[in-house]
Amino acid sequence: MPENHVCTVCDDTFESEKALHIHESKKHPSKQAQDLQDLIQKFDQEASEVEKLKKKKEHLEEELEEEKERNENLSETLDHLKQQKQTLEESLEERKQRIEGLEDQLQQEKESEEELEEELEQKQEQITSLEKERDSLESSLADTQNLINKFETQVNEMDEKL
Ligand SMILES: [Zn+2]
Repeated sequence: MPENHVCTVCDDTFESEKALHIHESKKHPSKQAQDLQDLIQKFDQEASEVEKLKKKKEHLEEELEEEKERNENLSETLDHLKQQKQTLEESLEERKQRIEGLEDQLQQEKESEEELEEELEQKQEQITSLEKERDSLESSLADTQNLINKFETQVNEMDEKL
């Protein structure tokens, strides 16, 4: 029969684990207490590991929550910025349209100013031409008056002769 259960304290061998345990509790009671102590310590260590893992998990969950909040804040800020951008674009578009309107108005005023200048030039030409006609008429009038004077003199002379 194999005797494969060896007492770690005294190296005695036993046929079964139960026999070894009976031997240990009788011959080495402090060994059993030590084993129990070791077992309890092992449990404590495992419990402590579990506690650490729990805390780590909680910590990760908190970080995840914070990350989510940060994301929410960022998307709120992003939305706000997008709205601001839209408002700016609208007001820019309005300014552009106002500038275009003013440019059109200015163009129209320039054109009507040019028209007025042309009209003024035409009036000036008309005045000059009318002045020439007036001078020519005055000259004709003077000539006619001379002729009248001449005829009158001739008529008077003929009257005196008759
Ligand atoms: Zn022993």
